[in-house]
Amino acid sequence: MIVTMCATSPSDPTTENQNAPLPPSLQVAVSDTLKRGTPGRVPFSVEFMPPRDDAAEARLWSAAEAFHDLGASFVSVTYGAGGSSRERTERVAGKLAMKPLTTLLHMTLVGHTESELRGILREFASLGMTNLLALRGDPPGDPTGEWEGIEGGLTHAVHLIELVKSMPECADFDLGIASFPEGHYRAESIEADTRYTVEKLRAGANYSITQMFFNVDHYLRLRDRLAAYDPVHGAKPVIPGLMPITSLRSVRRQVELAGCELPRDMEEKFTRIAAGDEQKNAAAIREAGIEETTKMAERLIAEGAPDLHFMTMNNVRATQEVLHNLGMAPAFGPRFGQDMVR
Ligand SMILES: Cc1cc2nc3c(=O)[nH]c(=O)nc-3n(C[C@H](O)[C@H](O)[C@H](O)COP(=O)(O)OP(=O)(O)OC[C@H]3O[C@@H](n4cnc5c(N)ncnc54)[C@H](O)[C@@H]3O)c2cc1C
Repeated sequence: MIVTMCATSPSDPTTENQNAPLPPSLQVAVSDTLKRGTPGRVPFSVEFMPPRDDAAEARLWSAAEAFHDLGASFVSVTYGAGGSSRERTERVAGKLAMKPLTTLLHMTLVGHTESELRGILREFASLGMTNLLALRGDPPGDPTGEWEGIEGGLTHAVHLIELVKSMPECADFDLGIASFPEGHYRAESIEADTRYTVEKLRAGANYSITQMFFNVDHYLRLRDRLAAYDPVHGAKPVIPGLMPITSLRSVRRQVELAGCELPRDMEEKFTRIAAGDEQKNAAAIREAGIEETTKMAERLIAEGAPDLHFMTMNNVRATQEVLHNLGMAPAFGPRFGQDMVR
């Protein structure tokens, strides 16, 4: 079992001197949380985004409390496109770790030289933030634009993994990576993408978290492709990334951004329920969306997924409804003091 150290504070971490060395406490490695499942029942985890303002910050902490109480096995914190949110990501992740929640920091190499990346990694190590999702990241500005490295920087996530592995200060790090059920949109081919994903696992990543998808077959094919390419490293856990469906507009936007397929039967079902008026039928669409996400989760559990990773957008309600349908959480509702958290 890998046990990593995490910074903790005896009092409110938001008001204390953030730079003072903090006494250590124990934090579990994310790859160890994946061993907690029992047949037919899997752990779940959630993704948060660093908040942009005070209102969003308050919502995030309500969500963190709720998911802590619901027993999330870990929480991850995204890193703004182009490295724009590094300080917020680090601050939020540090505070989550003190709740205490096993916390996974996303980190990208966009816009940093190798020497800056070393400095950032050293800082994470000194704060005990040793669960890292090693990513290349998207270009700043237009995320679908051409990716251009900077002088003295790195070009692919695998290089970030190699850098971590070369630093003695990071010996305790437990690394994860991104994987893409339908192939990364910039990959030359699905075979090339499989090869590069396995390369990251061989370089030292212990698991991957997938891009969101709405067709479970794509997840299963990715898992098969990786294991067929390399039965040792390719067989490391692949955590499915799930975005609960709550509206037709948002699912269409996510499909466009993530470059994933919305299965035809789902699209037709939602369009039928919308009956030309999405706003009027929003509640029925939402209900159908939660039902579809639940069905996906049920199939993933039956297929032996190691964890269900929910992309929450810092909201509790939709994820809790899916968990409740799966028998993994109480019902969501004001009676539980949850009326403030969507
Ligand atoms: C679960 C998850 C979380 C994410 N979180 C964030 C986040 O917090 N912040 C953020 O900015 N972005 C995030 N992303 C988006 C991600 O950073 C982008 O999709 C990015 O374009 C690819 O990142 P990567 O780590 O897979 O890159 P890489 O592994 O470097 O792959 C990028 C492209 O290059 C190819 N490739 C890989 N290795 C090589 C190589 N050695 N030689 C040639 N080609 C290669 C791949 O096939 C792919 O097309 C996340 C994605 C996922 C799935």
